[in-house]
Amino acid sequence: MPKQTQVIRLDANAPEAAAISIASRTILAGGLVAFPTETVYGLGANALDAAAVAKIFAAKGRPGTDPLIAHIAGFDQLPLVARDVPDLARKLAQRFWPGPLTLVLKKSGGIPDNMTAGLDTVALRLPDHPVALALLRAAAVPIAAPSANKFSRPSPTCAQHVLDDLAGLVDILLDAGPTSIGVESTILSLVDDPPRLLRPGGVSLEALRAVCPALEYAPHFLGDDQLAPAPGAMLRHYSPRARLLLFAGDDEAAVSAAMRAEIVGRDNVGLLASDADALQFADLNIPTETLGSNAEEAALRLFAAMRALDRRGLDTIVARAPKKQGLGLALWDRLLRAAAGSIVEVT
Ligand code: AMP
Ligand code: MG
Repeated sequence: MPKQTQVIRLDANAPEAAAISIASRTILAGGLVAFPTETVYGLGANALDAAAVAKIFAAKGRPGTDPLIAHIAGFDQLPLVARDVPDLARKLAQRFWPGPLTLVLKKSGGIPDNMTAGLDTVALRLPDHPVALALLRAAAVPIAAPSANKFSRPSPTCAQHVLDDLAGLVDILLDAGPTSIGVESTILSLVDDPPRLLRPGGVSLEALRAVCPALEYAPHFLGDDQLAPAPGAMLRHYSPRARLLLFAGDDEAAVSAAMRAEIVGRDNVGLLASDADALQFADLNIPTETLGSNAEEAALRLFAAMRALDRRGLDTIVARAPKKQGLGLALWDRLLRAAAGSIVEVT
């Protein structure tokens, strides 16, 4: 394991060639490079090198049963990663790549078993960030890159979050400022018939159904004590250290009243709130992190807000469940996991 992480600042829109060259050489030498994508920062290693991939699991403390996403620089790298690619994959890729859509396909022989947790399928995407693309092109190998956080912690949306979790455990950190979407990619399985949404994310379910009307989504979550039959189904994830209580219901006024009652009855409680909710509960004078006034702003701020509330050493965080449409579905999924299922249904 490296003793010190070399942090290299670079221009998000015009990444300096020297920085990319150091980073790509590190990837090809079997090292770890954290880099920005449009969703969150990734922890990258050569996806064709089993020993390098093993370093990702070790650094994150991630169980070997949770497979990684391979990132590619272009369609031409598809055969390095996947086989039997269906027409629908090409259609989706044409529409949404580069971008926050991950496709699960049959894996090709060159991908080591630990990369896919022993599955014969592989998750892959083409990211939409000049730094990620420059690194992928320079290294000319697919790069395995899960989010660059400790396992089950909120994903990193800026370089400081990566350092908070992984300083000394990664060779190079490319710092190009905050990411532009803030939640992870949408994961779509094309090895199931009909295709299945495995994780809501940066591309909305509505946009995907416009291309693939048969797409199924049946959210299922497992507790910590249950064995996960499918990767990514673990319930407690993206979690702050404080207990998160998520309030849901159609009657907004009733939900507000229930949130207020909960806050008033507790010590050491904080609020994760839209701008409107922050105003509404301002009189309670409790630690508050705001998520802005729409789903896009909330996605950008969610993980940073969880980390900020955590630094205040709270016992409980109260939040309102977002509407499950557009990017709101990804927010709902992350909040539900952060709450480890403790959702308060207000009727
Ligand atoms: P992360 O990159 O940390 O956001 O996590 C990647 C997620 O991709 C995993 O937790 C899985 O849910 C999912 N994933 C990766 N490979 C596969 C696969 N072959 N089949 C299904 N899901 C996958
Ligand atoms: Mg992750």
